[in-house]
Amino acid sequence: MRYLVTGAAGFIGSHLAGSLLAAGHDVVGVDAFTDYYDPQRKRENVRDLDVLEADLLVADLDGLLAGVDGVFHLAGQPGVRASFGPGFEDYVTRNVHVSGRMFEAAARHGVRVVHASSSSVYGDAESYPTPESASPRPISPYGVTKLCVEHLAYAHASTAGLDAVGVRYFTVYGPRQRPDMAFTPMLEALAAGAAFRLFGDGSVSRSFTYVSDAVSGTIAVMEHGGAGEIYNIGGGEESTMSDAIALAERIAGRKLAVERHGPAVGDVRRTRADAAKALAGVGWAPTTVLADGLRAHWKWVAARVAAP
Ligand code: NAD
Repeated sequence: MRYLVTGAAGFIGSHLAGSLLAAGHDVVGVDAFTDYYDPQRKRENVRDLDVLEADLLVADLDGLLAGVDGVFHLAGQPGVRASFGPGFEDYVTRNVHVSGRMFEAAARHGVRVVHASSSSVYGDAESYPTPESASPRPISPYGVTKLCVEHLAYAHASTAGLDAVGVRYFTVYGPRQRPDMAFTPMLEALAAGAAFRLFGDGSVSRSFTYVSDAVSGTIAVMEHGGAGEIYNIGGGEESTMSDAIALAERIAGRKLAVERHGPAVGDVRRTRADAAKALAGVGWAPTTVLADGLRAHWKWVAARVAAP
């Protein structure tokens, strides 16, 4: 198969593109290398991949989609905290507007799109573990834009026959994780002997999902997902930040200096994925326990920090 991967230089997209190539598929990778975080990290992510540099807001999508069997649409503006204030415009442009363009083009070409949504659409969820049927109540503008993209997919499916399937990722971690997420700066602080800025009292918990599990779930959804469906792609294990810090200290064999701050605006208290629908529908379940995933993440961070 020939797949278009958008956001191919990003954290999850670069792993996804690599896995698709390793499985024998052709991959067209595209990324705008935005400066939300240091684009040099993205260049490192794709050292061994060919990625076309283009902004999907203006790129020729018909040209990109020619001869393609499916689109993994991961390009977007992530991050909860920066979605408040002046940064909001980037969220509307890169998530809503770009996805709308992609959905229209994919409908024209009759090509399936798997699009990256987020557990942020649940907000402080009505129940835990949270199934896809829970009422979405995002508490950040980021989550609102991701929910909007899900609705856009539905609108284009209803009116133009778009074949779209959504994946709601739950806090993905592992090598190449974005530096605005918790684990990369936590492990970088451990490696450098610097202080880690912890937001909240450590009781905030997440369904941490290892990146190779997120990738295998995304591919399973492309191959077996029902048109118009949405699947939680979330790790089976929930952990608080305090427990994750203790685990990281054991893995690194050193103590972390923690600088405590108040809770971050827009951060939900808890996420816990109910992944039963993905298991029943596409045969996917996460397999990486937090201790193994965090060890792999630590190895990547330690090697980067040690490099000159
Ligand atoms: P990332 O920022 O590392 O990757 C996204 C990539 O999209 C970036 O490399 C960026 O340059 C690119 N991009 C942004 N706007 C673009 C545009 N207009 N044209 C072309 N490229 C553009 O983020 P990630 O963590 O790999 O997340 C991938 C996707 O999954 C995002 O849509 C994100 O919102 C979603 N998501 C991620 C997580 C997570 O835990 N990492 C959780 C929920 C949802």
